[in-house]
Amino acid sequence: MQPLKALKHLNKYLWKYRLVLLAGLCFIIITNILNITAPYLVRIAFDHSYAEAALYYFFKGSEMAPIYKSGIIKSATFYGALILGITLLRGFFMFLMRQTVIVVSRKIEFDLKNELYNHYQKMSMEFFRANFTGDLMSRLSEDVSKVRMYLGPAIMYFVNLVFTFITVLAMMISVNPTMTLYVLLPLPILSLSIYYVSKIINKKSEKIQKKLAGLTSFVQESMAGIRILKAFSVQHAFANAFEKETEQYRSLSMSLTTVNAFFMPLMMFLVGLSTLITVYFGGLGVINGSFTFGNIAEFVIYINLLTWPVASLGWVTAIVQTAEASQARINAFLQVKPSVVSGDVMCTNLQQYIALNKVSFGYTNDKWALQEIELKVQKGQTIGIVGPTGAGKTTLLHLIARFYDPQLGSVLIDGQDIKNFNLQSYRKLMSYVTQDVVLFSEKIVDNILFGSDVDDAIQIEEVHRVAKIAAVHSSIMDLPANYETKLGERGINLSGGQKQRIALARAIIRNPQILLMDDCLSAVDYQTEKEILQNLKAELYDRTAFVVSHRLSVVADADKILVIENGRISAFGTHQDLLLKNEYYAKLYAKQMEEMGAA
Ligand code: ADP
Repeated sequence: MQPLKALKHLNKYLWKYRLVLLAGLCFIIITNILNITAPYLVRIAFDHSYAEAALYYFFKGSEMAPIYKSGIIKSATFYGALILGITLLRGFFMFLMRQTVIVVSRKIEFDLKNELYNHYQKMSMEFFRANFTGDLMSRLSEDVSKVRMYLGPAIMYFVNLVFTFITVLAMMISVNPTMTLYVLLPLPILSLSIYYVSKIINKKSEKIQKKLAGLTSFVQESMAGIRILKAFSVQHAFANAFEKETEQYRSLSMSLTTVNAFFMPLMMFLVGLSTLITVYFGGLGVINGSFTFGNIAEFVIYINLLTWPVASLGWVTAIVQTAEASQARINAFLQVKPSVVSGDVMCTNLQQYIALNKVSFGYTNDKWALQEIELKVQKGQTIGIVGPTGAGKTTLLHLIARFYDPQLGSVLIDGQDIKNFNLQSYRKLMSYVTQDVVLFSEKIVDNILFGSDVDDAIQIEEVHRVAKIAAVHSSIMDLPANYETKLGERGINLSGGQKQRIALARAIIRNPQILLMDDCLSAVDYQTEKEILQNLKAELYDRTAFVVSHRLSVVADADKILVIENGRISAFGTHQDLLLKNEYYAKLYAKQMEEMGAA
């Protein structure tokens, strides 16, 4: 077996819960001592009763006989009660053992999940670009739960196994070493076969898990895109594909069931073999006087006591190997450092300007998305940004929001590189309205208040105010529960334009000094757009805004307009300037005027 390097990560957690684990260890030891007490008492009870019974038969018919008879009943009752008591006590300590060790494993599972989730939260956009969401989720759910199996059951059964082995073996050898050897012969086969069966089961379970994950995302995707499915009339093809997938899932599950079905019979067979050996050789021992009936009874119980630990050895090994692989996958994520690192300087204000100083940036090494961007924007200005698709407009906003750091040059706030700022304090200055709206399945009011720290007393007032600016207030008031309406999955009960307007309201309520708007009114009709722009004018009075849009009507009134083409600034000026100086802008304007005339 490979050294368990990855699992070392968990030692800090084991250490954290050391006291509870120590208590668990004590319970394991007590359970084991009680474990061997019962068979020992069985032996005494057997031998005692056997001797009394022999005397009873010897004196049968005489007046002594009833005395021996009642003696047998008395001792049987006494030992029976004692064994029952000890078994109950043992059950109680087993309960405590599980309550400590298994509970700790649940606590560590909780800690590890939080560690991983917090780590995800610290990661930069690059990390989420490089990794699939499904992968991030399966680390957090499946891998963590596999690791928990190591922390809880595996550790508990292993420690228990060691103690059971020591105590039971000591007792058996003290009774008869040779018999012990015979009886133990089938056990290694039991352990090995269970190890292999467990491995097969694990492999099959993993395949099933993967298939299930695939099925889930298949259903999720087809439900999310149900409109497209219907519009393209492909439901039938999807249903067929789904049937195929479920059929594979079914056959995998069936094959797992088959392997599982072997598990118990195999175990029972090998245990039965040991019992058979005990009875046969024990019987011979009784005949030649080296063994008593009590010893046979005692040995049969010992074998039963050993069965589960020996069986669990194979099982535990398989769990530990799976956990090691899972933890290695988790560690691989935990070791990734965020590429955007927070600085120490608290950023409280934009006082004068934002500047991009010879900034070049590429998402990949082989292609610049933006090149040699020189830009200075004074506080309070609104900058419109236009350009063809893929020109780099969104990327520019990403750099200002510091989702990424540029490879060359720097972004400055009042002369200070934004890398020096504490990231959270810096992002607090701004609101970003993205191209694709993400609303949560919560009430509208909570969606608007998301991430803001408006005083409780004026919350409702504020929510109404920003919704009015975003021209969405009256639409919300038309909904059955107004602002209390809960949005369905992905905001299903709102139109695209309404969602965009709610997202805008959510951005404004944060009272940002810098507002980044990325084509965020694209689904809003012209009239409403005009209304919103009018409302925004007053709102943006002392804020700095970057407004990306494909519609010149949105940017025409901006203080200055930036034209980006092919990752470079091709013009920067007022609407009038650009009409004269920039070909792309002039053409776009002419085209849009024509369209408006046609409409
Ligand atoms: P715009 O907003 O002007 O349409 P973007 O800023 O989105 O343009 O994209 C600029 C360039 O960067 C494009 O060539 C695009 O393909 C590339 N790009 C954008 N996002 C990513 C990304 N997440 N990974 C790799 N390349 C990207």
